[in-house]
Amino acid sequence: MYRDMTCGEPRRTDTGKIITLAGWVHRRRDHGGLTFIDLRDFSGLMQVVFNVDSAPDAHALAGDLRSEWVVQVKGTVQERRAGAENADLPTGAVELLVSELTVLNQSKTPPFEIEDDLHVADEVRLRYRFIDLRRPRMYKNLKLRHDVIQVSRTYMAANGFLEIETPILLKSTPEGARDYVVPSRVHPGSFYALPQSPQQLKQILMVSGVDRYFQFAHCFRDEDLRADRQPEHTQIDFEMSFVEQDDVLQVLEELYTTILRETRPDLEVPTPFPRLTYAEAIERFGSDKPDLRFGMEVSRLTDIASGSGFGVFESVVASGGVVRAIVAPGCADYTRRQTDGLVEFVRSSGAQGLIPIHISESAGKSGSLDEVTLDDIRSPIRNHVSLETLKEMARTAGAGPGDLMLIIAGPERVVNVAISNLRSEMGRRLELADPGVFRFVFVVDFPLFEWDDDRDGWAATHHVFSSPRPQDVELLDSDPGAVIGQLYDLVCNGVELGSGSIRIIDRAVQEKVFGLIGHSPEEVAERFGQLLRAFEYGAPPHGGMGLGLDRIVMLLAGEDNIREVIAFPKTQAAVDPLFDAPAPITQEQLDELSIRVVDSGG
Ligand code: ASP
Repeated sequence: MYRDMTCGEPRRTDTGKIITLAGWVHRRRDHGGLTFIDLRDFSGLMQVVFNVDSAPDAHALAGDLRSEWVVQVKGTVQERRAGAENADLPTGAVELLVSELTVLNQSKTPPFEIEDDLHVADEVRLRYRFIDLRRPRMYKNLKLRHDVIQVSRTYMAANGFLEIETPILLKSTPEGARDYVVPSRVHPGSFYALPQSPQQLKQILMVSGVDRYFQFAHCFRDEDLRADRQPEHTQIDFEMSFVEQDDVLQVLEELYTTILRETRPDLEVPTPFPRLTYAEAIERFGSDKPDLRFGMEVSRLTDIASGSGFGVFESVVASGGVVRAIVAPGCADYTRRQTDGLVEFVRSSGAQGLIPIHISESAGKSGSLDEVTLDDIRSPIRNHVSLETLKEMARTAGAGPGDLMLIIAGPERVVNVAISNLRSEMGRRLELADPGVFRFVFVVDFPLFEWDDDRDGWAATHHVFSSPRPQDVELLDSDPGAVIGQLYDLVCNGVELGSGSIRIIDRAVQEKVFGLIGHSPEEVAERFGQLLRAFEYGAPPHGGMGLGLDRIVMLLAGEDNIREVIAFPKTQAAVDPLFDAPAPITQEQLDELSIRVVDSGG
């Protein structure tokens, strides 16, 4: 046996015991006849003392120890002398007085220290991920992820869901991203595609009579990486037979309240989870993933702006655009520099610009707009718009003396993205969101289709198997853009945790949807033939969801990037610096696969 306890375990009650510990040398301090090391493993730190008098050999050897060497120490647990206790450490009342030291393995000098507060380039952290993961914070994240998986698995199993694995080597399963493909040696010129999600497989399982399926599914999507995206991510993927939307949402609410209760009981989770329709979410927050921990709702000033006399507003409105605003409470004294910073911020979100209106704090003692005069207002549009119009805008937006109104004008989509990002940013700056609360919300009633300017045609908002509401089926012919789908997202604190839907089982409806999206019969047969074939043999009504595991763990861990909760993630450039993947393969392998690499001339 290498050890009797882990490094984080010894307590005052162990005083007098002779024990053996093993771990990494975290730090060494020499004090003449006494040498101290902090010995570290996954569970914590233990102070270890080498005394030249009681153990001269061990003390001599301890002089050689370096950071990250792996050692085994045998000794007696003793109380630290008065004044030397460390209240920050669970083991801080005791130390191990060593009688024997064994060096199990040596280490090079690590490229960075094993400290939670680390400022090292991501590339270096990932190349030395084995060192990076030794940091307590990273271990805590891995453990949290493990806990979330265990709790979810237990919940799903207890509720009749069967855990079923589905293949990784498959065919293209379009979810809107590019595929990762794997060449076949046995079938030269043919390729497997890695699943973007097990969507068709889980639906086929429903046709197979499985009733309830779940899996922790790896999903592979070759898309341009954003902050919270990875080439592969994990979903808690599930599907249920004989259900309506409410049945699925009930499972979701129970699953997430269980996860929160079991892993972060300190957090407050308001229930029942509220529901917002997509239209309402966009109207009130400019976004379909609103952070409901604070208000600062987005108002619409388009009508007032259209007759304001201010050229920019009028031309935006004339070309079908909108004018929307938020109010930053108590920010009237923002400096020019601060508002310039916000202008930059909204430009990076795609907006042309931002118009601030500062209403001086001293304007109305009563807090009302009535006493506000033009002198109380600071704004680039102050001289272009009448006082009455400015006040009307403020009234509509809910701004009063002391507040800063932030207005964005432009095409609706652009404005919504920019204003909702600005809302999040101001919420962050003003610390409006309580970090101790997890506010879940179901966003429902999404439009089934969205217009795709690039393709100049309809695209599925979610995916092609999502069903319209029964009452909207007729609109498929007359007004596809007005069709509401049985689609739902789960959102928490402004982060989308997953999407799902009730699926189409009616062949005529499915064909209409394919037609609207512009899939030719050949394309349909090629991509979806297997599922449609299965549907010819009795498909139960069904629906489900794909939930981002990485994202919920990220939120629970208080991290802001999913890389922090994935053991071996890739960089923003889709590279794994630890393995140096992707990498060229040998000519022999290429020949075997009948593949010739065309030099792109780079
Ligand atoms: N496969 C879908 C996705 O990855 C989820 C679902 O519809 O169940 O978004």
